[in-house]
Amino acid sequence: MTQQQVIANWGNYPQLSAEVDELGLLPDVQNYLQQQSPLTLRGNGRSYGDASLGKQVFSTLKLNKFLDLNTESGILTCQGGVLLSEILDVILPQGLFLPVTPGTKFITVGGAIASDVHGKNHHKEGSFSRHVLSFDLMLADGTILTCSRQENQELFWLTMGGMGLTGLILSATFLLKKIETAYIRQTCIKARNLAEIMDLFESSTDWTYSVAWIDCLATGEKQGRSLLLLGEHATLEDVSPNQKANPLEIPQKRKLNIPFYFPRFALNGLTVKAFNTLYYNKQWAKESQSLISYDPFFYPLDSIYNWNRIYGKPGFVQYQFVLPKETSKDGLSEILTTISQSGQGSFLAVLKLFGKGEPEAWLSFPMEGYTLALDFKVQPKVFELLEQLDRLVLKYGGRLYLTKDARMKKEALQNYPHLEQFKQSLPPGFTSHLAERLELTINNKQ
Ligand SMILES: Cc1cc2nc3c(=O)[nH]c(=O)nc-3n(C[C@H](O)[C@H](O)[C@H](O)COP(=O)(O)OP(=O)(O)OC[C@H]3O[C@@H](n4cnc5c(N)ncnc54)[C@H](O)[C@@H]3O)c2cc1C
Repeated sequence: MTQQQVIANWGNYPQLSAEVDELGLLPDVQNYLQQQSPLTLRGNGRSYGDASLGKQVFSTLKLNKFLDLNTESGILTCQGGVLLSEILDVILPQGLFLPVTPGTKFITVGGAIASDVHGKNHHKEGSFSRHVLSFDLMLADGTILTCSRQENQELFWLTMGGMGLTGLILSATFLLKKIETAYIRQTCIKARNLAEIMDLFESSTDWTYSVAWIDCLATGEKQGRSLLLLGEHATLEDVSPNQKANPLEIPQKRKLNIPFYFPRFALNGLTVKAFNTLYYNKQWAKESQSLISYDPFFYPLDSIYNWNRIYGKPGFVQYQFVLPKETSKDGLSEILTTISQSGQGSFLAVLKLFGKGEPEAWLSFPMEGYTLALDFKVQPKVFELLEQLDRLVLKYGGRLYLTKDARMKKEALQNYPHLEQFKQSLPPGFTSHLAERLELTINNKQ
């Protein structure tokens, strides 16, 4: 059913008018793809910028069927529009968990592959692509190809992190991990500054999950002060007798909702600074241990519906970059100094140490080093600051995450070493506002 509507992704910036179609039956989808070109593919719109925006959009949300689950081998096959939250509802009671999950569970499997998403376990278990065995891809002419490491390899790797530009991921088969309980054994450590948090990350690589919330406005001795969260799936031995009775069941909590957009003045440099100080001081002790449910550990923001509205109607942009390990210390320090001098802060910036990336997935974002993700309210002066940050990221050999981007220029992509090969290998028929802005589809085989 075609609908003309104004759509945006999670940052609410940019907002574009689009014709959106949603179909669930394969012959209809095939027919539709043959008639519409170029087409933009859209999952659940949880990318922040314009990756799934375009004039003619196909929403995958009706491709939402589970096709097979083998609880012994932990192998799941489902359609590309199934949400990770829906998968968790099915697999958790079976003692299974997602191999990799981003900071929200409201994304589709197609979106997880197209952005090659990473989680808090990247240093140990890589990004989503590492756990995908195969997927079925529909090309613009309606042909369906099964892609894996053995079959149609080129398309397999182009699609991993390929931002929806190779074809429609109809279904995917991937490996889940086994768990004994739905709880996480968490350790939280306070770090006074950047040097300390980096030392802590590097001495904690045995932990499966690690992530730090960093105060991006702290300066001087306190620059980079953070709270490091480390986590492991709790075993039956770790939980209380009460929890052991139903170890894979978590009592449901009520979710908060932000019912309207906050007014412009609600979020300014002062409120962000005060919030960050409060957050850093929420723990007095140097180190604390707790046993928490998987939900607040992996998805702390999902408990507040529509939290993106606190940035007001103009929306916000997320800025995520990664720097090679060798340059991370100097690079992060200069970038944090530039941000604090600008006074345009971010609530809770997220710092993480990545392990090795996937060299065959040419547009996949992660590479070994430190990644920082920050939110900035959209206001005229923010774009100037972000261009300044782009130059610093490039100077230190780093790169930006496409799925979070809404504004970078094509020059900022220069540290994706296989960019030209990616562009030239793309099959025809798919595009997006992001692809046009960055000229990703300019040389493809159309
Ligand atoms: C609160 C929050 C936290 C996040 N945390 C993380 C994180 O920790 N790590 C991380 O890596 N990301 C993170 N993200 C980003 C998010 O995981 C990715 O942007 C993801 O791709 C969104 O998936 P989606 O289903 O919403 O797809 P959309 O946002 O609609 O689309 C994203 C991309 O996938 C393509 N696509 C979608 N479905 C298909 C399909 N079936 N076939 C082909 N292409 C398709 C689109 O064309 C587009 O290029 C976070 C986002 C939010 C809002």
